[in-house]
Amino acid sequence: MSLIQEKTKELPAVLGGEPVRQTKLYYAHQYIDQADIDAVVQVLKSDFLTTGPAIASCERRLCEITGAKYAVLCANGTAALHMACMAAGIGEGDEVITTPITFAASANCALYCGARPVFADINEETYQIDPAEIERKITDRTRAFVAVDFGGQSVPEKELLEIRDRYGLVFIEDGAHVIGTSYHGQMNGSFADMTTLSFHPVKTIAGGEGGAVLTDNPEYYQKLLLARSHGITRDPALMEHEPDGPWYYEQIALSTNYRITEMQAALIESQLNKLKAFGDRKKEIVRRYDEAFSKLPGLRIQKETEGSDTVRHLYILRIDPAHLSIDRRQFFEAMGAENIVCNVHYIPIYYFPYYEKLGYQKGLCPKAEKLYEEMFTIPLYYAMTDQDVEDVIRAVTRIAGYYEK
Ligand SMILES: *Cc1c(COP(=O)(O)O)cnc(C)c1O
Repeated sequence: MSLIQEKTKELPAVLGGEPVRQTKLYYAHQYIDQADIDAVVQVLKSDFLTTGPAIASCERRLCEITGAKYAVLCANGTAALHMACMAAGIGEGDEVITTPITFAASANCALYCGARPVFADINEETYQIDPAEIERKITDRTRAFVAVDFGGQSVPEKELLEIRDRYGLVFIEDGAHVIGTSYHGQMNGSFADMTTLSFHPVKTIAGGEGGAVLTDNPEYYQKLLLARSHGITRDPALMEHEPDGPWYYEQIALSTNYRITEMQAALIESQLNKLKAFGDRKKEIVRRYDEAFSKLPGLRIQKETEGSDTVRHLYILRIDPAHLSIDRRQFFEAMGAENIVCNVHYIPIYYFPYYEKLGYQKGLCPKAEKLYEEMFTIPLYYAMTDQDVEDVIRAVTRIAGYYEK
């Protein structure tokens, strides 16, 4: 019998006979109200389905919320990361440092540009990329680092900005989780050279698909506009040849079509009207979780980055093997038996076969690898009811209590 089969055999049945709930609860779900629906329908009745006033309006709104000078909405958060790397001029022979505990896109964006991702280990308590580990990985090929606000907490901006300035690097913040969070009173989105956002429906603001890049730098802004649409410009100031008519445009760089639709932009802007309510409710759920779970010896909760006032995107629990007789997988499956469907964020990127074939090997970031063995994500989203929250707390408490060493 394989190890996995043995473990499966030992998996706990539902403790106490009945699961804590009868219907399944998932780790994330969007919240759409009538205002969102009306906003999309209004666009459908208008003249523009792409590249029109809803996009411009949503971009202005993102600037107001985050304090960034420029926002460029685009197809998704992955496109946003690729556009940011293109605008930063990252290319063949360059190295881009990032964390392994993130979605694959945070590192893939370097590969898209012909550069090599380099992985820096995390802080054991906040699970964010560790500035000292970034510094250890800097070589004369390093051009940029992509710091991910993992789970919605801010990365340590102060230390990262110091490293950027000391080594002359480009600081790209993958803020797919971060909208609504502030750091020492200043909104995230206004610290890094470029911050990328995602509006995938599991994220705080749902656009179906959608992303954005925020920046204060007018040169990056110009390049981001080119990167969003084939490297094509209609701005005579950027052209190399004399326009031979009013139809004239030029392709002056190479990119692809990373545009977003007007319907998505209208939905995102309508969702942004609820950002405060989304954030307040998530903070309330996180307070209740923290209070309940910090008492359990078998579990550890994520420590807050100093200065981060967080709108949490993910709630991560970490088992403490010294105080628990089951492992992460068994805890995860016991939660499933209670009808609470958890997730794991994330598998270290360099574990993937694609990365293995590029020569990456296990052992690169021991703290990240240990975290991966021990963590799982429990449900956290605005539309959860108080009963849902209580169910999660009851299930976790029950399992952690039963298997306490
Ligand atoms: C979701 C996510 C992305 C990619 O965003 P998409 O909109 O799904 O393309 C990138 N980085 C992180 C950390 C994410 O969570």
